[in-house]
Amino acid sequence: MSQSPILRRCVACKKVLDRKCFLKVTRDFQNGVVLSGGMGRSAYLCPTESCFEEALKRKRLQKALRCDIHSSVFNMLQKQLNTCIYSDTEA
Ligand SMILES: [Zn+2]
Repeated sequence: MSQSPILRRCVACKKVLDRKCFLKVTRDFQNGVVLSGGMGRSAYLCPTESCFEEALKRKRLQKALRCDIHSSVFNMLQKQLNTCIYSDTEA
């Protein structure tokens, strides 16, 4: 029996993929906005330059999390771009 993937939607391009493929940003109820980990409302972003730019320019993460996001969070996100290379051809 194969485990079905947990699907999430990118806040920038709206593509739906396995959540393992995304960078995750969580608005933690104690620590504020964190990358990976944390408890609370989460937003997902493809680890690509184009989705990062889109999210940054249009404040997609701020809208998804309903709060301000410090520029340090975007700096950390930018460092993690291209870390998860996935294939569209794989089922
Ligand atoms: Zn995307």
